[in-house]
This record gives sequence, C-alpha cells and structure tokens, in this order.
Amino acid sequence: MLLVGIGYDIHRLADDRQLILGGVHIDAPFGLAGHSDADVALHAVCDALLGASGLGDIGEHFPDTDPQWKGVSSQLITDKIVTMVSNDGYRVNNIDVNIIAERPKLGLAKGSIRENIARLLGINSRMANVKAKTNEGLDAIGRGEAIAAQVVLGLCKTKN
Ligand code: MG
Repeated sequence: MLLVGIGYDIHRLADDRQLILGGVHIDAPFGLAGHSDADVALHAVCDALLGASGLGDIGEHFPDTDPQWKGVSSQLITDKIVTMVSNDGYRVNNIDVNIIAERPKLGLAKGSIRENIARLLGINSRMANVKAKTNEGLDAIGRGEAIAAQVVLGLCKTKN
C-alpha cells in the first residue's frame, strides 16, 4: 500500500538570520524569520510525512509557542517525525520538493539539499527530488519577501 502526503510552508525573509533550506546552510545576506531555524523546506517535508501517516501536522507536535523548540534545528524535528512514522510501520518510498524563492538562486545548492533530505529520510538520493523555482516576480515570493516550499511524498507500509 502506498500512502501519499502533501506539505506546504512559507516564511518571511529576515536580515538578521542564517538561510537554511533542507538542513543546508545557503550563502545569502538574509535568512528566514521563525521560531525554529525557519527551514521552510524541512517544515514542508515534516507536514508531508505527518499527512501521509495520518499523524496531524507539525504545529500540533512542535508548537511555535513552546520555548523548547525556539531556535531548534529543523533536522532534529525531522528526525523525530521520521522516527514516529517509522514506529507506526511506514518507510518513505520517494519525495518530491519544490522550493520557491526569487533569491538567492538555488541551482548550485539543489544537489546538497537533495542529498541531505534523502539522508534524513533514510532513502537513496535517487528517490529524493528537489526543484528550485521562482515566482516570476509575482506576489510576496516574487518581490523577495518570502520563500515557500511544497512537498509530495509516498510512504510504504513495512508492517501490519
Ligand atoms: Mg514553518
């Protein structure tokens, strides 16, 4: 049985922050605002994992009102969710990620983000795909005010 999950997230750009996408530090003169490290790509990955396994959403498990998640690495949150999903008897089959950013250009970072997401999910990087998109200058993302991510992934059941 294949279960499909969808994830979406958006964060505002902020001058005084590091830019981290898919757990990878990206060279940019700005980062993203948020309670954790604001890794918009991993937040969308987490929601897709929770969606496919029917376990709710990232806000239920890691509320941004809880001080213990302030500034925390989203890789840690992803690890915890991967463990939850795996304890429920699922493994990731494949993942497809869109990162929508007018700037910086992500062409050179795409490969590293793909490798890191595959590592976090325990899959071969052939089964993890990352696409870098712009918003063609339209809306808040196009004006360079925010970065968004969309994720679709498939889970397979490993036990009954
Ligand atoms: Mg988020």
